Amino acid sequence: MSIRVAANEPSSTIQLVTKGYAKLLLTGFALIPLYLIAYLYFFQDPSLKFENHAFHELAIAAATLEGGFVTYVCWRCYCLSGEPLLRWLTLGFLGFSLIYALHGVFTGMAHHNIWLFLLYGPASRLVMSILIFIGQLTYSHAADSATKRADRRVWATWIALFVLIDLSVAGIAYSPVAGAPWMRVSMEGGALLLSTVNVVALVQRRIRSPLMTIYGISVTSFALSSLAFILGVPWNHMWWLAHAIFAAGFFLLSFGVVQAFHTTRSFSKIYSQGELFARLREAMGRTERALQELQRTNEKLEHMAATDPLTGAANRRQFIDRVEAEIARAKHNGAPFSLLALDLDHFKIINDSYGHQAGDRVLQRFVTKCRDAIRPFDGVARVGGEEFMVLLPQAALDTARSIGERIRAAIAGTPFEADIGQPIEVTVSIGVSEFGRDGETIDAILRKADERLYHAKHQGRNRVVAA
Ligand code: GH3
Ligand code: MG
Ligand code: MG
Repeated sequence: MSIRVAANEPSSTIQLVTKGYAKLLLTGFALIPLYLIAYLYFFQDPSLKFENHAFHELAIAAATLEGGFVTYVCWRCYCLSGEPLLRWLTLGFLGFSLIYALHGVFTGMAHHNIWLFLLYGPASRLVMSILIFIGQLTYSHAADSATKRADRRVWATWIALFVLIDLSVAGIAYSPVAGAPWMRVSMEGGALLLSTVNVVALVQRRIRSPLMTIYGISVTSFALSSLAFILGVPWNHMWWLAHAIFAAGFFLLSFGVVQAFHTTRSFSKIYSQGELFARLREAMGRTERALQELQRTNEKLEHMAATDPLTGAANRRQFIDRVEAEIARAKHNGAPFSLLALDLDHFKIINDSYGHQAGDRVLQRFVTKCRDAIRPFDGVARVGGEEFMVLLPQAALDTARSIGERIRAAIAGTPFEADIGQPIEVTVSIGVSEFGRDGETIDAILRKADERLYHAKHQGRNRVVAA
């Protein structure tokens, strides 16, 4: 069975149009946050606020826990595949979690030092956008070595760096520059810029694997969340929406990480459906060809196991099988059948006079002549060196004798061409037996045919003996 997709394949125009449509949908989907941002921006009063510290603390705690979990899964993926992109993603998640946690921790400080509360948000997003952008640049790079993957010092160094960033942000929050309008906007704007560049680079590099598509949509969300943060003011709806957009991107990216974890532990080695289908088709084709080859080999082997290699006649085993089947048939419907036992006369002399090779050729020609003399459904078998048997279904003793006579006459009538320049005179002696009349078992009828063959030899050879 083969899968056929070539037949009824839609035209290239519709293929192109549907592909373009899918791309448009994907872009439209990635930009959903933008519609929400535009809606709030144009239709909502920016002074409306929802200041709820407990809710904010709960949300950030959940985000931090989620961040920790995704960091762990991503790190496990990286340990298994060594993919550099996953190393940078792990660092991105880790850095984000360690910095963003303080944004939640300092919620209560909002009225004492607003910057201590606010700056950890953009700082965490800036750090994460830098790290995952570097990650994208390493897409499809060779896997890290096992030693590099296991090196804990690298991770410790990065954790120390993130803690340093935490302390620096606190330092900035208490410095006079904290309140400068460019401070928060430059961090948030940096994150926005890097995420945008990240997505543009992704599209330009034509990276189309399913997980990288998820990655692209997530990074678009990060960029748009930074835009919303820039447009929002603490506690207003745009500000809350910014949180939600970021969370959506984060969830989606973590979905990609979990997919990688459950499949190839890699972002680049997950195949698209189309690619999978093509691979499947190819594999099935290979299997089918291998099966056909196997079937041919089996048939060949079966044939080899049942035939004599020199003459192509059936071998003794095959002959016995056929006689047994004939006995079963005879017992079932009473149809007669007979056997001929044939032995070439003075074959040793032929060998001695013309050589063994000429003897072989005589054996081959003998089988051909035999076949010409018998009916299509009769079978010749080579059961010894120059000894043969012929099975004659639907033949009683008289018919068998006349077929035997036909063979004898054919052999004795024309000398054999054995490619030695001169023809060789060959004769054959034949004993005949009939199932039922000469016995009811395979041994009995074979013995009887042999006995009569022996008599034929004794009576002077080149004759058929049937009684
Ligand atoms: P007869 O049967 O008439 O009594 O005489 P014979 O010479 O045929 O007697 P025997 O059965 O003793 O000899 C058979 C000879 O057949 C002996 C052996 O060398 C020869 N022979 C057996 N197998 C092969 C073979 O595969 N190729 C050739 N060339 N000769 C074979
Ligand atoms: Mg013999
Ligand atoms: Mg002989």
